Amino acid sequence: MLMLDAETRGELWRRVAEAIEKYTTGVGEARVAPDLGLEEIRQALAPFDFERPVPPLEALDFAVDGLWKWQVHTPHPRYFGLFNPAPATMGIAADALVAAFNPQLAAWSHSPLAAEVEQHLIRAFAGRFGFDPARAEGTFTSGGAEANHTALSTALTRAFPEVGRRGLMALRSQPVIYVSPQAHHSFLKAARLAGLGMEAVREVRVDSRLRMIPGELAARIREDREAGCAPFLIVATAGSTSAGVVDPIADLAQVADEEGGLWLHVDAAWGGAAAIVPELRPVIEGTARASSITFDAHKWLSVPMGAGMYITRHAGILERTFRVAAAGYMPRDGAGLPVADPYAHSMQWSRRFIGLKVFLSLAVAGWEGYAESIRGQAALGDRLRERLREEGWIVVNDTPLPVVCFVDSGAEGRSVAFLEGVAAAVVASGEAWISNVSLGEAGPALRACITNYRTGPEDVDALVAALGKARASIC
Ligand SMILES: *Cc1c(COP(=O)(O)O)cnc(C)c1O
Repeated sequence: MLMLDAETRGELWRRVAEAIEKYTTGVGEARVAPDLGLEEIRQALAPFDFERPVPPLEALDFAVDGLWKWQVHTPHPRYFGLFNPAPATMGIAADALVAAFNPQLAAWSHSPLAAEVEQHLIRAFAGRFGFDPARAEGTFTSGGAEANHTALSTALTRAFPEVGRRGLMALRSQPVIYVSPQAHHSFLKAARLAGLGMEAVREVRVDSRLRMIPGELAARIREDREAGCAPFLIVATAGSTSAGVVDPIADLAQVADEEGGLWLHVDAAWGGAAAIVPELRPVIEGTARASSITFDAHKWLSVPMGAGMYITRHAGILERTFRVAAAGYMPRDGAGLPVADPYAHSMQWSRRFIGLKVFLSLAVAGWEGYAESIRGQAALGDRLRERLREEGWIVVNDTPLPVVCFVDSGAEGRSVAFLEGVAAAVVASGEAWISNVSLGEAGPALRACITNYRTGPEDVDALVAALGKARASIC
């Protein structure tokens, strides 16, 4: 039953391909957010008691129908949500191949092509970010959160080499890290899991554009040192999740240097794609001075989840952070070659071939194909800002990237209740998907992000129309 007969396989592959094609071409006709009823889903699952085998095509139909019915359709051109694009065609094909060939990326010698494809990509992206590709190192990760955790771990290893063996108890002072209040909350998780505790994460004050203030950072570092703490990591965000804010990376790099060479990590999970577009590259200026970078290909490079990258200029740090004594059962055929075993360079052990979906998508689109797509989305962001202003909304964030945060100019236009009501009404209409954010001192806002290469001007206009209806239904 695990290997189906040739005839059933033929039919199954045909139906899988058909389902993928139908979703790809038809998703734009669906409600962006269907009703997502827990009871209904559990009822549909209840007959699967795994006592009675289900025929393969029936099981497939269940999955396809269920996915159509019960998910927010992030590949929809009117999904203006978090950084979840429509997957690129070559990325979908790559993931299917990876499932079938199932290369094992623990040891290099089991899957040399896969391991070398990933390292080739790490060097290519390192070059785009302004690192010396010949000296940069990196690893693919499940996503940005793992890449950020990797950054914290490598920075900790560099600052406190004894921690790997003896643990944090061996330290005389508490290690601390600096982020902006806009930074991704995965740093809190990483600090907790690394044993530093979440209080080790210092939020540095931001300016009116929500960018970290370098002078405040320097002051906090000195204060912490006087209090007996040990600063070791500064995180600059290049394209925050809430509002697309880019910290002044070059100035933060300066502080990192002046304060004794602290590790500067640039979290460019989404915004890093600006490095591919010549006229957007200045937006993330200073990234080349980072100690390490997080970049998520499953965001603006539109490959299926999850495809994160961690890239560093510190050769050897991954090995020092992650290598443990080789287990007796691990293959050593790669020993002697100038190669790295992925399991000794990352948090994961057995791991799937994450890089193929990036490799095939990039090989087929080329840098220029991606630049065109990202450029187009940035232009749609400008169109959205313009259309919103025309309709009496006020844009409250300041970024050239296509994340737009806005409130209404009416008397109640900045109240949480009103803004949540508008987002809920837009989502309930099925016409589009947007969300609410809290921008700290700048208050609550609505958030719409162009994240999909299939989104067009007509979709932006449809969103603005849906917002108008939603506003009228609440006022
Ligand atoms: C999405 C995101 C993350 C987390 O990445 P995952 O891929 O969801 O794990 C971290 N930082 C930023 C800036 C992000 O946008």
